[in-house]
Amino acid sequence: MTDVRIELSSDTQTRPSEAMRRAMYAAEVADEQKEEDPTTNRLQEMTAELFGKEAALFLPTGTMCNTISILVHCRMGDEIICDRTAHIVNYEAGGPAAIAGASIRPINGNRGQFEAEDVRALLRPKGDRHAPQSRLAVIEQTSNGGGGSVWPLARIAAIADVAKTHGLAMHMDGARILNAVAASNQTAAAHAEFFDSLWLDLSKGLGCPVGAVLAGDRDFIQEAWRWKHRLGGAMRQSGVIAAAGVHALEHHVERLADDHANARLLASMLDGIDGITVEPVETNLVFFDVSGLGLTGTEFVERLLDEHGVRMGGHGNRIRAVTHLDVSRAQIEEAGQAIRRLTAA
Ligand SMILES: *Cc1c(COP(=O)(O)O)cnc(C)c1O
Repeated sequence: MTDVRIELSSDTQTRPSEAMRRAMYAAEVADEQKEEDPTTNRLQEMTAELFGKEAALFLPTGTMCNTISILVHCRMGDEIICDRTAHIVNYEAGGPAAIAGASIRPINGNRGQFEAEDVRALLRPKGDRHAPQSRLAVIEQTSNGGGGSVWPLARIAAIADVAKTHGLAMHMDGARILNAVAASNQTAAAHAEFFDSLWLDLSKGLGCPVGAVLAGDRDFIQEAWRWKHRLGGAMRQSGVIAAAGVHALEHHVERLADDHANARLLASMLDGIDGITVEPVETNLVFFDVSGLGLTGTEFVERLLDEHGVRMGGHGNRIRAVTHLDVSRAQIEEAGQAIRRLTAA
């Protein structure tokens, strides 16, 4: 396999830092299922406080956060409204249908986002025996498929208004919520305010090896705990991994702005290249189209890796590059130059 010198395929590709590993080594632990693990408890308290929610729950993955939230909010046959690019639609192996028995009504939004009117137009008549019942609206903050776009709070507030009036719960897939916080002038709690449930991923831009934390009110988290147990997500001395999360919340949040600056730098280097069309960059995701180069996306990704040691990902001709704490500004410059050389040849 080609040596990957510059890893831009995902923010999941980070390795825990020395300091993070030391925090994990030193973690105080006990039985998490009994709610006695002090480090896991601390991580949950920190997350609940960050979001201004009553309680939080440590889970192995973001996917399990979404699945459990859907299980708590929906009954079998209920309907979920979200954008067609959403992670729950495309990357969770049909979990909402397979596990929760919920169906999804996707919206063809703009940059992964939709409007309150879109939700209103899709609402099912209440009590109609023929129609599934609309139960949940899901917002992905930031939107991955939408190019790392940040949902403005006013748009979310309008959707929450419709949801409240019509008895829908609001759930945030917050895999990259702290990137949205870093890119906006609002606090995490201001972002969280409109949601009955939301979570953050520790294993993306925060640089942890594993984990996600789900937050909501006490009743929601109590129900979530039951599902966590049923699905086999209850752990034992989980403080060893929760310690990475505590460390990340203390040390890796402010620096997300550096990733965003690096993403903008990469975009500006690509912008001048003939045959490449760059999408607007709002956070740490850089999407660009290579159709004009006379190469397929697959060829582009393969050549960039084989000839330059730079790894990116893509769907068709739409390429994704992701900045994170294991790539430096100098490496971003190098990656930009590698693409210039590749496209000049
Ligand atoms: C990564 C991701 C998830 C799933 O998180 P995992 O921790 O990988 O299970 C969900 N939603 C979005 C938007 C993601 O990027």
